[in-house]
Amino acid sequence: MATDLRWRRILLKLSGEALTGKGGFGIDPAVTSRIADEIKQVVELGGQVGVVVGGGNFVRGAQIASSGLDRVSGDHMGMLATVMNALALNAALTSRGVPARVLSAIAVPTICDSFTQRAALGHFQAGRVVLFAGGTGNPFFTTDTGAVLRAVEMGCEVVMKGTQVDGVYSADPKTDPTASRFDRLTHREVLARGLSVMDATAIALARDNRIPVSVFSIGEPGAFVAVAAGGGRSTLVTVEDANSG
Ligand code: UDP
Repeated sequence: MATDLRWRRILLKLSGEALTGKGGFGIDPAVTSRIADEIKQVVELGGQVGVVVGGGNFVRGAQIASSGLDRVSGDHMGMLATVMNALALNAALTSRGVPARVLSAIAVPTICDSFTQRAALGHFQAGRVVLFAGGTGNPFFTTDTGAVLRAVEMGCEVVMKGTQVDGVYSADPKTDPTASRFDRLTHREVLARGLSVMDATAIALARDNRIPVSVFSIGEPGAFVAVAAGGGRSTLVTVEDANSG
């Protein structure tokens, strides 16, 4: 299928926070619906979209551990939270006539199918959006690492990370007026400068597999479609050589 997009097969990473409204907790149906509309537009432009959604709008394992509870149990709770978020997006997509499936890295067989690369590729080929729940399926990892892992397994051309700001900045733009936005970075620079793009495990996995990471604002209506089509405001993280990304 012809496409007007910069990348045809896209892995969209959303933090759980992206689905929240003003309260910063849980799932806001209006926000979830808007994001589903944007995914629909990218699909209509010929994109094959996989989505990894985080769970931080409900629970993070590290926070549970810092309050004195068991880290592994906290991580299990965090992975279950990602299943809830994936189900919400799946419902929003389906109600818009966008075929979608949730595949989970942790087995919850009465609710959704478990992830296998074979099943996920089949859904892509059938034109479905695939919602990858459960992160990597292992404690002590993040959904950023899960997103890069799935991108590698699925042959995605890019990981598009939707954040609350329109790219990667030299400092926090919300608190530091001198902060400047990078148009381009390399994975190596992100790691060396400790820039908050993704955790180091995720960036190293993206570097080793030569997967570009595009950071953009999911909070800005239309930005996902614009950046996927080669415009908009974003920071593109690529490997060193000029021909990449
Ligand atoms: N998590 C995990 N393994 C994974 C992915 C996630 O244990 O492979 C747990 C972990 O506790 C994490 C939580 O799920 O804090 C939610 O994921 P994440 O923090 O990445 O969500 P986001 O910040 O993107 O909303």
